[in-house]
Amino acid sequence: MTTAVVVGSGPNGLAAAVVLARAGIDVTVLEAEDEIGGGTRSAELNVPGVLHDICSATHPTGVASPFFRSLDLERHGLEWLWPEVDAVHPLDGGRAGVLFRDLDRTVEGLGVDGKAWRKLYAPLAAASDELIGELFRPIVHVPKHPIMMAKFGMRALQPASWIAKRWQTDEARGLFAGLAAHAIYPLNRPTTGGLGLMFGLTSHAYGWPVAKGGSAAIARALAADVVEHGGRIETGHEVSELPQADIVIFDTSPAGALRIAGDALPGRVRRPLKRWRSGPGVFKVDFAVEGGVPWTNEWARKAGTLHLAGTLEELNAAEREVHAGRMPDRPFVLVCQQYLADPGRSAGDVHPVWSYAHVPNGYTGDATEAITDQIERFAPGFRDRIVATTTAGPAQLEAHNANYAGGDIGGGANDAWQLVMRPRFSPNPYSLGAKGLYICSASTPPGGGVHGMGGFHAATAAVRNL
Ligand SMILES: Cc1cc2nc3c(=O)[nH]c(=O)nc-3n(C[C@H](O)[C@H](O)[C@H](O)COP(=O)(O)OP(=O)(O)OC[C@H]3O[C@@H](n4cnc5c(N)ncnc54)[C@H](O)[C@@H]3O)c2cc1C
Repeated sequence: MTTAVVVGSGPNGLAAAVVLARAGIDVTVLEAEDEIGGGTRSAELNVPGVLHDICSATHPTGVASPFFRSLDLERHGLEWLWPEVDAVHPLDGGRAGVLFRDLDRTVEGLGVDGKAWRKLYAPLAAASDELIGELFRPIVHVPKHPIMMAKFGMRALQPASWIAKRWQTDEARGLFAGLAAHAIYPLNRPTTGGLGLMFGLTSHAYGWPVAKGGSAAIARALAADVVEHGGRIETGHEVSELPQADIVIFDTSPAGALRIAGDALPGRVRRPLKRWRSGPGVFKVDFAVEGGVPWTNEWARKAGTLHLAGTLEELNAAEREVHAGRMPDRPFVLVCQQYLADPGRSAGDVHPVWSYAHVPNGYTGDATEAITDQIERFAPGFRDRIVATTTAGPAQLEAHNANYAGGDIGGGANDAWQLVMRPRFSPNPYSLGAKGLYICSASTPPGGGVHGMGGFHAATAAVRNL
């Protein structure tokens, strides 16, 4: 019987194991931590009964993932829950850009800029399945929809700040900037527009849900599928030497794969893996908040996700500082209120409020005050409602997951070069160039996020090449 080992049990590693197990291969997943899931773990961190997501919170890429959708993970207990509002971008004075799953509602809320919002996103949402099918795979491929992809690509290559020129108001410009800022890259750089298009498209086509009972439910459902098809999962097993198996798939960073399998890899693969660069880091703060966050803007009180920075210009300035290795006074802060869609995560009137700020890679300071200040700016009185706080800076994130080097949660810097060379230029970027060896983590296409598509493509290539 063909044997396989998957190193790491993040969503990509588990997705790879699902493909292998379903193909009848004898697969074992080896996970360094005591718990499976990598970026999909949840825990009571500070107040009994208040459930926090330790890493990923909101799942536009999960609900859109063609692989997840093909698996019927609901059979294994996964349930998506949608908040009333996908995302809000608050501005000073109680104003805000509001992203509803419903395009018409979003357009209406954006006033004079609504028409241009519709013009940009309506065609993308209408072709969402085809576009996602093309985008969630290696950049180097023969597109099934070449004209649509050419049109999308021409826009996606632009800096977000260029695309935002079609809007006049701070609300629409800020809303788009917040979507694009998931690139963790200055918004005046090429390709940042692409993420703004992608996240808006996922909202209008699929919405931005959370997983009932915490993001760990995604890992549990994938793991159940692995076991159901005869696979095994071992936790507390850090892999430091190349496992003996017909197929080995690394759900690790390129540096992790190099450490373990470096000698077995040809120079043409070792070199790009060595050159792979991390992106900026994040500093995470999980608050337990009595009565929720008193946002000035009423839609913010109903939003699953909030992007805090102020105007596009302020956001871009903060990202430029981070990119230059300096901590801004007012960083870009993401806040998630998963409990609005999933009330079971709260204890009475004490609610989990998830947040992180973009910080320089390896940042050693404490960003708790900067994050609290940004929230307080748009929700005066927030500070007084905090019951408990748990923080994790870049060093702690890396200690709990070797893939998050210096706090980089995206699997590597999202610059134009590394979008194409992910982690190297090849029609099969998952292959490590040696028989049976593959990489499937967020450092492979389509990149960061919980979607399992890296794992799916790597394992599919491995099975095909047997
Ligand atoms: C704070 C934070 C917030 C995020 N928010 C979101 C969000 O809201 N939505 C979203 O879609 N994405 C989000 N992400 C990103 C998302 O979690 C990741 O992109 C995703 O988990 C990547 O999946 P992966 O399988 O490639 O790797 P990971 O999930 O990182 O898993 C890799 C696994 O491999 C294990 N491992 C590494 N080396 C070894 C070794 N040598 N031996 C054995 N095991 C090893 C690690 O312990 C880990 O469990 C967030 C991430 C973080 C950290």
